[in-house]
Amino acid sequence: MVLKVQSALVTGGSSGIGAAVSQAFAAAGAKVAINYHSGREAAEAIASDIRASGGEAFAIKADVSDEGAVEQMIATTVERFGRLDILVANSGLQKDAPFRDLSLEDWRRVIDVNLTGQFLSCRGAVRQFLAQDERPDLSKARGKIICMSSVHEVIPWAGHVNYAASKGGIMLMMKSLAQEVAPDRIRVNSIAPGAIRTPINKDAWETEEALRRLLTLIPYGRIGEPEDVARAAVWLASDESDYVTGTTLFVDGGMTLYPGFADNG
Ligand code: NAD
Repeated sequence: MVLKVQSALVTGGSSGIGAAVSQAFAAAGAKVAINYHSGREAAEAIASDIRASGGEAFAIKADVSDEGAVEQMIATTVERFGRLDILVANSGLQKDAPFRDLSLEDWRRVIDVNLTGQFLSCRGAVRQFLAQDERPDLSKARGKIICMSSVHEVIPWAGHVNYAASKGGIMLMMKSLAQEVAPDRIRVNSIAPGAIRTPINKDAWETEEALRRLLTLIPYGRIGEPEDVARAAVWLASDESDYVTGTTLFVDGGMTLYPGFADNG
């Protein structure tokens, strides 16, 4: 119960990695606000499962690219739980196209949700961490932020330029913010998942042939599961990682190890 009675907000908690993080946080003793955009039923179901197991959780709708909606989401979380100790800025989407066909609309939407959405969520969390009383009995840090990045914060990705740009942006937003708020004892880190079995990348694992091709990029020889990422998030949110800030934890089965060079290049 390393997150006992801490209050957490997970954006995009209705699906995939965010759903697994919400469940793992609850199992670790946290109260969890589960944000969704369109997946109301899924978010409500996760919240109700957590409550049925004796935990505290509720689902909350917000488009993370909407400033007012993010402010309202954080205010509601604080109203319900009394405070905010942990933010997981996880919401993200892809709108893929060859660069020459990439529309301004799809460029903007991906940057708005993946990067601006994390900026707005992080800013709201930092403001709340600084406004509330410290609770050293709950957490050594005054507050913790985990940004959900991607291996594509460092691996270029043709055909997904908007997505890779958003994740590269998250890398330096996270590090710059971590530098700025470390004196306030707010820890800010990222998780960079490799290929995790969720709806966002279904095309990459749903057929045997696609999975075989994907596995050539993963030295560890298996696709990741949302729980692999959730366990890392629990650690990064807990006092176990109290001296860790401004870093990206790659949870990728070795995808960033240049597997093409494994056999003498
Ligand atoms: P997913 O599609 O299952 O989940 C994405 C979540 O983001 C959903 O809950 C969705 O409702 C939410 N979302 C989308 N637009 C939103 C908006 N405007 N406002 C609020 N929420 C919104 O995919 P996932 O794989 O669980 O992705 C979660 C995060 O992990 C994303 O940031 C993604 O880029 C990142 N990631 C995933 C993988 C992977 O292999 N699955 C790899 C690297 C990074």
